[in-house]
Amino acid sequence: MEKFISLENFQDNNDYKLMPFRFSNFKSDYLISNDFGEWMVISRKNLEDLINKKLDTTSIFYRELKLNNFILGNSGSFGLENLASKLKTKKEFILDFSKLHIFCMTLRCNHSCIYCQVSRKSENSCTNKYDMSNEVLSKSIDIMLQMPSPSVTMEFQGGESLLAIEKVKKAVLLTNEKNEKIGKSITFVICTNMVGITVQTLEFFKEHNIQISTSLDGPEFLHNFNRNTSGGDSYIKVMKSFRLAKEILGNNCLSALMTTTRESLKYPKEIVDEYIKNGLTTIFIRELNPYGFAEKSQKKIGYTTEQFISFYKEILDYIIDVNLSGVYFQESFAGLILRKLLTPWSIGFVDLQSPTGTGFNVTLYNYDGKVYPSDESRMLAETGDDTFCLGNVIDHGYEELFFSKPMQLIATASTNESLPSCSDCSYAPFCGSEPVRRHQTQGDVIGHRPSDTYCNKNKAIIAHIIDLWINGDEKVKNVLSSWITN
Ligand code: SF4
Repeated sequence: MEKFISLENFQDNNDYKLMPFRFSNFKSDYLISNDFGEWMVISRKNLEDLINKKLDTTSIFYRELKLNNFILGNSGSFGLENLASKLKTKKEFILDFSKLHIFCMTLRCNHSCIYCQVSRKSENSCTNKYDMSNEVLSKSIDIMLQMPSPSVTMEFQGGESLLAIEKVKKAVLLTNEKNEKIGKSITFVICTNMVGITVQTLEFFKEHNIQISTSLDGPEFLHNFNRNTSGGDSYIKVMKSFRLAKEILGNNCLSALMTTTRESLKYPKEIVDEYIKNGLTTIFIRELNPYGFAEKSQKKIGYTTEQFISFYKEILDYIIDVNLSGVYFQESFAGLILRKLLTPWSIGFVDLQSPTGTGFNVTLYNYDGKVYPSDESRMLAETGDDTFCLGNVIDHGYEELFFSKPMQLIATASTNESLPSCSDCSYAPFCGSEPVRRHQTQGDVIGHRPSDTYCNKNKAIIAHIIDLWINGDEKVKNVLSSWITN
């Protein structure tokens, strides 16, 4: 009696079945992908052979396709339960509803950045009008604590949060008090330009484990050009605060992001060098968003999507060189895309999610009591378009807010899997759906992909990262891998 079943029993014939997959152009080849997040770059001939069932079923290429769930072979494949589990892991972010809770404590700010997206008010404006009241704060916290998620992030934003620091402190203490019986795990983050931060404030951050997210646009001349502040010289003030923060909270206490203006396009290397000089290990290369003053100043500070993509590639190449010289430094957007491409996990980045993070993963409590499904939708509201206002914390309860008409509108355009063009696009598992941005730039939440700058940018950047991964040498791959493992 034979101990093992003979090899032929494990061999498929050409009667294999195709699993659902999408294909898109990738240079002279094709990128194929499926809903489980698997992808391959294959030639046109191989694509035709796959579809016409002409593949050599003993080839390595056939096995790779089967392993990546593009084919269901007749000698057995992964069971449907396994595939369901893979899909569930990829979409895990949608469980437990909204996890990021943004509290806009004041609309007042001590900067007047040329790209301000929130339409800030001057720091001396009336606090009663532009700061969050105690009643709004308390009711907003109650709604956040009603969320099904066992862990939430409470993020303070503005305007400039430090101008309302006493309110921020009150918010942290009140949240902890109200949460005592509920027992959620709460991460506190403050977004601040850090100008004028004091020892007492930093000690409060230390005591309550509050993370700092700040802005640094590059070297002094560029930072000051983009980020004007009252009294001038934002850079010197920020550097002073950086030093103080490091003294009290330690060297790794800060994360920063930059916003790209037309002026920034000239200085990719200088921007990275400035970050490294300040001991930062990550940078988020952020394009201008089409909201607030940034939209109004497009003629002065804007650029085309093609210009941004070419800047992004240049800066990414330089960052890889920096890593190859022995300095760990990560571009965060590329890190997120790599995690999507190369790991089975979901990522908690709302701009690259389907279903969209808007409303489903983010809730914003505005200083005036209104509730929005994202930061971008309150930016729109400040310029007069209140389409996405879910209601307000004084008059509306949890269900009224989250089953409101605007949430239903967002839901109609929330999944790439069912949006025109996205549903056929092989970049979809690594991309996201952005109904608010499409409403703003294209006039409706669904939009038109060929003229959609968000689509064109994402597609080009994802393709570039895939290209680096499949065509880069081992050293480049090691650098990219290190951004996943940190
Ligand atoms: S937005 Fe563009 S790149 Fe992203 S999934 Fe849709 S069609 Fe593809």
